[in-house]
Amino acid sequence: MPSDHEGNKLSNKTGNPIGPYAESDDRGVHIRALFTELLRARKPLVLHNGLIDMAFLYQSFYAHLPDRLTTFTADLSEMFPAGIYDTKYVTEFELRLTASYLKYAYKKCKLDSSRRGTSGGTEPHVQLHFCQYAGQMSSYVDYRVCPAVGSVEGQTDVCQRFSAFGWCPNGSECLLSHDTDLIILHDEKDLGNKRTKRKRRKVER
Ligand SMILES: [Zn+2]
Repeated sequence: MPSDHEGNKLSNKTGNPIGPYAESDDRGVHIRALFTELLRARKPLVLHNGLIDMAFLYQSFYAHLPDRLTTFTADLSEMFPAGIYDTKYVTEFELRLTASYLKYAYKKCKLDSSRRGTSGGTEPHVQLHFCQYAGQMSSYVDYRVCPAVGSVEGQTDVCQRFSAFGWCPNGSECLLSHDTDLIILHDEKDLGNKRTKRKRRKVER
């Protein structure tokens, strides 16, 4: 525990939590208990564009945000010794995907991985298995079916704004497609065309 702002810890003298998340929910579970569990597990923490989330978690469950960034980051690395990974950073600066919003990044990586898995199985790939939470915990987890990517044929044009940023001011009223699977296939086609053009240009030179 850091010593320079130990007095700021968000609990009272009896050790009971204070602050906006001190109360348990209608099922008797402290949201704080979830955060304590996160710290106790000492697993790597994975977020997507998570700086604000980290600041929020820190302020709500750990201590008042310190004045200095170095104190904040030093505390974080102590809280999560197995590391904090931000998939937004990975997709933008390492993988350099065409878009980096979470749904796109997840589906694109899942698609690439399944392709590696089916191409003879020799290339490294990942298989996802979601844990089955016991009893009451399962009601806190919202599973959604994420169907396999279909084919592009016979589809409408994709919404360029949604394609780039994962949102569009027209929302569900938009006449263009917001289908992430379709967007990914379009992007792959575009990238393929660019590569072909580049090759052609090289040959022409
Ligand atoms: Zn749109």
